[in-house]
Parts: sequence; C-alpha cells; structure tokens
Amino acid sequence: MVNRTPLIAGNWKLHNDHLQAIALVQKLAWTLQDARHDHAAVEVAVFPPFTDLRSVQTLVSAEKFELRFGAQDVSEHDSGAHTGEVAASMLAKLECSYAIVGHSERRQDHGESSALVGRKAAAAVRHGVTPIICVGETEADLEQHGASAVPVQQLREALAELPAAGEIVVAYEPVWAIGSGKAATAEQAQQVAHALRQTIAEVRGDEAAASTRILYGGSVKSGNIAGFMREPDVDGALVGGASLDAAEFAAIARFQ
Ligand code: PGA
Repeated sequence: MVNRTPLIAGNWKLHNDHLQAIALVQKLAWTLQDARHDHAAVEVAVFPPFTDLRSVQTLVSAEKFELRFGAQDVSEHDSGAHTGEVAASMLAKLECSYAIVGHSERRQDHGESSALVGRKAAAAVRHGVTPIICVGETEADLEQHGASAVPVQQLREALAELPAAGEIVVAYEPVWAIGSGKAATAEQAQQVAHALRQTIAEVRGDEAAASTRILYGGSVKSGNIAGFMREPDVDGALVGGASLDAAEFAAIARFQ
C-alpha cells in the first residue's frame, strides 16, 4: 500500500491583493506553527492570484515556512504570442509546487474543454509543476447520469493529453457543492474518488493509481473535513471560501 501524504489546498480564487496575501500567509503559517502542524504528515498549500505569487514566494522562502503554494491556472503554451497567458516554466521558477487546471469556474466562464485542461496539465508536468486536475458534475449531470459518469469522462479526456509519467493530483469537485454550503456526503465523495482512481489505473497503471492523490472539494469546512478524510480514496481537500480565513483553514488542515 502506497502512502499518500494528505494535501489540504486553499484556492483563494479572485481574492486578496499581494499585500493581503502576505498578511494571510503570515497568519496561516503562524497559526500552523502554534498548532505544531506536522507538514511532513499533512501538506498545506495556498493558491493565490498570479499577481501575489512573487510576494508569497519571497515571504515563504525568507521565513522558511513549510507552506506550499501554486497557481490557479496555467497556459498550455511554453512561450510565444499568447497575450495574457502565464507559462508553467514561469511558475516553476517561482517555486510553485502546483497549478490548478480545469476548475469548474474556468470550464464554465471560459469554455475550457477537458482536452485543453489536459494540455495545460501536460505543460505543468513538462516543467515539474504538479497539476491539480479538477473534475466534477453539475446538478443536471447528477440527475441525468449519476455522480461518477461526467467526472470520469472529464478525467479520461484530460489524461489522454498527458504523458504516462509525471505526478498529478485529481480534485473531485461537484459543481453543485462549490460555494453552495451544500457539500457532498463523505460516501458520495468516496464513491466518485474510487471511480476516478479506477480510471487512473486503466489509463496510467496500478502503481500510478495507488500513488495519485485524489482531493474532494465543494463547501469543505472544519466541521465536515473529518468525514471526508476517513474515506479510503479521499486524500485531502481543495478548499475555496474557507481558505480565506487563516484559523478556519488551519483547523481544516488538522482534520481530527
Ligand atoms: P468552496 O470552493 O470551498 O468555496 O465551495 C471550492 C472550490 O471551488 O475549489
């Protein structure tokens, strides 16, 4: 049995300028230090807007905080005439450990397909940045096809664009649970996480399936995280709203 280090990831979305980012990262790091957080046992990462990343990197490296950080998106391109894009190589140089790709807000607001999400993930992998590939069904999908079908299909299409090697993380985020206060049950999250792990096994092999971390996201709070973390196929959480409060996010990272 492979040991998968749990990952608690905070997706700030479009919140916090670089000064607010510095304040929040400091507060989070100190709260975790006070709680004697074991970073080797549970990884904690934050995902600020692009414009904050340099400030966060400078702070984390100067203070030797064990926090990880990453970007909320990344370009499929490595360089060139692509106005407004940010390359994975640039994130790598900023010591970003991760890049979120295919968040449902980007799929909805920017029409991102699973194939594009896969190409973005591939760009990240090329530069040693671990992609967090988000998948999830809408309420209509859930009623029509059940919980697993759409996330599994999204993951399959994204993985088709990826090389066989290279670390990835998958985040199951039902669209109806995001920002709604209506989280999936732990059983629902487990059922879909298990189906996603089977899909990884089919496409990338058993070893990759056993070592890939699968997160649950959608209205995660300190009050419901423990239930998700007890499930065998759930290896952490992608947290939106609750990651903007240092004390609440640190409590989620404790998850007892
Ligand atoms: P939420 O968002 O925790 O605010 O529901 C999760 C996400 O969108 O990653």
